[in-house]
Amino acid sequence: MSLDLLPDAFLTRLQRIVPESQWYSTLEGFQRPVPTCFRVNRLQATVDAVLSELSDQGIRCEPVAWREDSFVIDDTQRRLLTSSAAFNEGRIYIQNLSSIFAAQVLGVQPGEEVLDLAAAPGGKTLVLAAAMENRGRIAAVEAVKSRFFKLKNNIELHGATLVDCYLKDGRQVGYKVPERFDRVLLDAPCSSESRFYTKDPDSYRYWSEKKVKEMQRKQKKLLRSALMALKPGGTLVYSTCSYSPEENEVVVDKALKKMDGRLQVLPVSLPFDNFQSGLTAWAKKHFDPQLQNSVRILPSETMEGFFLCLLKKL
Ligand code: SAM
Repeated sequence: MSLDLLPDAFLTRLQRIVPESQWYSTLEGFQRPVPTCFRVNRLQATVDAVLSELSDQGIRCEPVAWREDSFVIDDTQRRLLTSSAAFNEGRIYIQNLSSIFAAQVLGVQPGEEVLDLAAAPGGKTLVLAAAMENRGRIAAVEAVKSRFFKLKNNIELHGATLVDCYLKDGRQVGYKVPERFDRVLLDAPCSSESRFYTKDPDSYRYWSEKKVKEMQRKQKKLLRSALMALKPGGTLVYSTCSYSPEENEVVVDKALKKMDGRLQVLPVSLPFDNFQSGLTAWAKKHFDPQLQNSVRILPSETMEGFFLCLLKKL
């Protein structure tokens, strides 16, 4: 079976994380290409106009029940979609539904000041910009130069005029602008375990437990900075596309301990059922019971695996 290609240690760990009832559907996620979903960019077009434009080009769009601007297409039509004017002129953005949901959970409002601390290529920044109707301000930070330019291009192409892009190390931002933002999104760099694809050995070739720990060190510093930059009373989403508890619950648990009662994990209501609650124990360690409110999205036909946690600074 092609799954034999994935690192043994990775699969052994994963089996201890995912409930037995969801094990086979989780494994299926590694054997199919990323499903093609897109969001209509309401900053530059209406849903009806885009659907009629795509329909004229023979693209059949399936609506997403919980998001009226988002659609799924058959993989055989992906090329057609990526060569369409709607795609190339920024009227749509191709993005996985889990990624859209993670940004949606932050609940941004027009007029707010928002920080996106690890922003490139900008998919979630654009979800926030659309929800804010281009009113208020988003500071989008990216540390890697080539990715920063990709972010900047995407922001311009999609008409998100409320976004200021910064080429900076996110770990420093909280020290520079403490308690500045109403909301913060930290979609942290991670081992990308949910994106492993058996037909693409590069996606999992470099995985190791050591690498996971390396990512954790960075994630802890980024979360510390993100929390510093957040106003008291503000909310923050921490997310990754990794399954490893070391990159998810462990990182948040550390922050909860450091904040000593001044940080709360809020429950998230989910419009789909392919998820499990966050873990409250791993590797003989017990976490703050509030971590049960964090969410592990499990892969489905249309969604990638994802971890997300909605935090409130008291
Ligand atoms: N939120 C993005 C989206 O939805 O399009 C994806 C973000 S990706 C998971 C994480 C990003 O963090 C990468 O672009 C990576 O280059 C960037 N990054 C890595 N280290 C960073 C740091 N110290 N400060 C800011 N960004 C960093």
